[in-house]
Amino acid sequence: MTQILAQSAMAECWACDTQNDPAAYLCAACGKLLPSDSTDYFALFGLTHRLTLDVAALEKQFYRLSRKLHPDLYTRASKEKRQWSLEKSALLNDAYRALRDPIARTEYLLETEGIRLEEQSRDATDAARATGTDKQQVIPPDMLEEVFELNMQLEEVRMAAASNSQDPELMANLEVAEKNFTAQMEALQQQLESLWAAWDRALADNDAATKDAAKQAMVALLNRRSYIRNLVRDVRQALGKS
Ligand SMILES: [Zn+2]
Repeated sequence: MTQILAQSAMAECWACDTQNDPAAYLCAACGKLLPSDSTDYFALFGLTHRLTLDVAALEKQFYRLSRKLHPDLYTRASKEKRQWSLEKSALLNDAYRALRDPIARTEYLLETEGIRLEEQSRDATDAARATGTDKQQVIPPDMLEEVFELNMQLEEVRMAAASNSQDPELMANLEVAEKNFTAQMEALQQQLESLWAAWDRALADNDAATKDAAKQAMVALLNRRSYIRNLVRDVRQALGKS
């Protein structure tokens, strides 16, 4: 099926013969379900790869498509169409979950651009820690000193906990560190949004150099964010919050 779609730019509706965009899930003319091969999250919502999104509009479109693709509508349809509806519904859910979340949306976009973040999913990090083969993340250079000091404090807390004592001053310091890192995460979110704007403009202008620069900046930002997120997690653990 992939080959057929690759050969013809348009996909014909099985019910009314209308030529549809091969990424379309529903016929533009009759609204019937189509055997689309497309798995592109943006295309599924009729969107280009712009990163600045109207999340409220996305939600509306999600519910509209969900109703039309819902497997209950196809209980009496052919096996083939029941299968399409199941697949499309599942994909629609994945797409919505990814696109509505700023970080997941950015990661997905980078993935479609062939960039796999070596990040550092929570699962991967946990797995690495569990096996003791902690894959060291590269410390952002400007954070070296801060991280060094933090690690000393975390070590002290662990030792204090082991001897059943607690240093209130140390705990207060960690509270400050948690607030500080959380604020940094929020600042990164703002910076990410300006990178989205740069990407969107470069996409509209078809400006390859600016697109590349925006991608590299987003990768760096996400890695930094992931690093800080892990620090926040360590601090919260030390404070007994998680
Ligand atoms: Zn049709």
